[in-house]
Amino acid sequence: MALNLSLDDAVQFVPGVGPGRAKAFAKLGISTVEDLIEHFPSRYDLTPKSTPIEDIEEGKVATLVGELRRLRNRGSLTKQRVTANLIDGTGECHIQWFHSPYLLDKLHEGQVVRLTGKVVVQEDKAKLTNPTWQAVDEAQDALEVDEDLWNPVYPATNQLTSVQIEKIIVNIIDDMAERIIEFLPSELQKRRKLPSRRLAILRYHKPLKQADVEISRHRIAYDEFLLCQLAVQTGRARARRARGATPLPRSEAVDARIRKRLPFKLTPGQDKVIEEICYDLARDVSMSRLLQADVGAGKTAVAVYASLVAVANRNQVAILAPTEVLASQHLQKLTSYLSDSRVNIGYLAGSLTKRQRTVALQEIRSGEIDIVVGTHALIEHAVDFHNLGLVIIDEQHKFGVAQRAALSAKGRRPHTLVLTATPIPRSLAMTIFGDLDASVIEDAPPGRQPIVTTLVTEELETRAWKFVSELIHSGQQAYIVYPLVDESETLPLKAATVEVTRLANEHLAGANVGLLHGRMKPAEKSQVMDQFRSGKIHALVATTVIEVGVDVPNATMMVIQHAERYGLSQLHQLRGRIGRGDLKSYCLLFSDSTNPKSTERLNILCHSTDGFHIAEQDLLMRGPGELLGTRQHGIPTFKAADINRDIHLLQQARDDAAEILRADPELKNSQHRELNRELNRRYAASQALMRTG
Ligand code: ADP
Ligand code: MG
Repeated sequence: MALNLSLDDAVQFVPGVGPGRAKAFAKLGISTVEDLIEHFPSRYDLTPKSTPIEDIEEGKVATLVGELRRLRNRGSLTKQRVTANLIDGTGECHIQWFHSPYLLDKLHEGQVVRLTGKVVVQEDKAKLTNPTWQAVDEAQDALEVDEDLWNPVYPATNQLTSVQIEKIIVNIIDDMAERIIEFLPSELQKRRKLPSRRLAILRYHKPLKQADVEISRHRIAYDEFLLCQLAVQTGRARARRARGATPLPRSEAVDARIRKRLPFKLTPGQDKVIEEICYDLARDVSMSRLLQADVGAGKTAVAVYASLVAVANRNQVAILAPTEVLASQHLQKLTSYLSDSRVNIGYLAGSLTKRQRTVALQEIRSGEIDIVVGTHALIEHAVDFHNLGLVIIDEQHKFGVAQRAALSAKGRRPHTLVLTATPIPRSLAMTIFGDLDASVIEDAPPGRQPIVTTLVTEELETRAWKFVSELIHSGQQAYIVYPLVDESETLPLKAATVEVTRLANEHLAGANVGLLHGRMKPAEKSQVMDQFRSGKIHALVATTVIEVGVDVPNATMMVIQHAERYGLSQLHQLRGRIGRGDLKSYCLLFSDSTNPKSTERLNILCHSTDGFHIAEQDLLMRGPGELLGTRQHGIPTFKAADINRDIHLLQQARDDAAEILRADPELKNSQHRELNRELNRRYAASQALMRTG
């Protein structure tokens, strides 16, 4: 009987579900029938087709068909064991079942059974332990197909087991597969040698052979990537077609003037990305460029260069930073580079007094201020620009896409430059940014010495502190990072406010120890940062407020307490605070965790200073959400695709999406009708936000 269900129906109406189980399904992210049939197995258990006993192999799962002999109860009260022999004319196999005395009632000697289990060979005799069993009716069995069977194992919960999910899905999958509409143009499906979507979904749940699983997963993963790429690229394509941005060309004279302002010669890597940026800025299509580089590669100088190109064209620039510490650091740098120039620099952040704020807003509106640096305060409604030509977002992962868009909306199609904090692995960059218009600084400023990173376990702590203390007394400075501001009753972790006194009195006696954390008032924070920058404070005890951007070249020591609590990229980012000058720098990862996984993770950091490599490892271990931080919206989640494993498929999907959009930018042609519909269904809500800017 055909089911009266459609793919959009609530899962509650699927036979065997109902309101109670619907709640359990909701926990798995399943609310509709379509979600249910896209809930794919995470693995399969094999019931192989039968083999003669003489052919079985040690260590393999085998299915044997034969006659039971010597069925015995060998159990004691505490350990119940049923044993038997199975013979099939080619050989004999020992069987044992633990904790299953009821089998003595179900089975009998002389009975023909089918058993599946893992083969162990002991003293030349084959043995199956706890095999699954099935009675064989010989007349009936001749008609059954003897094939390998792949039993799906589903992601499940306590309330909903894999077996229950399997029953529910098996029951409807044939009917429901019939309703799946093919949305790939047939030419593309053929060219990429993909099975139909219908068959892929069916065989993903009910594979007939092992190869079915990968072929099906491949198709579903391709669909996920293609739709994601179409979503990302339509946004970008629209932006690129939209003229009306103000061209900001750069002359040789301007180039020379800007270079004179910088206190160092730009590296070839910086020069290369500056060329890419200037090419974009000179056009009447607004730039939307991502600047990637490892920590310390010198992104700020590139941002300053771009800003001055805009100012030379009498356009305003907004530089958005995630923290006030960072915003005020940018302000100081710009001010020192541009002292005695005619460029006016403004500042807008939460710490301004009401009067200061009013003045700043007025000067931004009138155009008196050329470059304004600020925090989230820049996004506020009250902020109006005279002619905002360039928006620069520092440490983009700290901002949501909507916030970036809000700032850009304050100009007439301003150019946008986004600076990443953590290098983003290519695969992830492609899914978020469509792999378009990315610039990478591939070198570092000259004279950098590699940072020595060491894992400090409990027994090494005293020696480590002695080393820190000596370094400080030789005139260098240190960061000491704690996971908590205050001590907590529930977390057994050291806290900055408590440890600061202890350090000043004990391990670092004689040094001037300062404190910086996120709950301090902005004015206090900037005072502490000033004292650290000027060298008055020797050791700065801090929370991860110093994680991003902070630049004090004389600081050569980074001590991270409870290092196992942080992600690799975050640790790399923290470590990026040192090694910024030409002095040798040290990063000490304190950890008393005995978990081998954390040790392995921390060791990656001890052996590599390549941020791209570390980010890839982090992505492998923790996934994209963790890597980029919770505030990064718009990371698509995939059911079948895996951006680490399927990078090649992702590239294919990206190319195919580009080709489709080149021929049919709005997906209006009839062969793209279903594709367009599916795209809207999946991405309509987020599509407006998918643009980088
Ligand atoms: P990030 O890319 O992490 O934002 P910064 O822009 O803070 O890095 O630069 C790191 C340090 O390198 C700063 O102290 C900066 O002044 C210095 N720096 C940047 N570019 C150069 C260069 N071309 N030559 C020498 N030092 C440089
Ligand atoms: Mg920076």
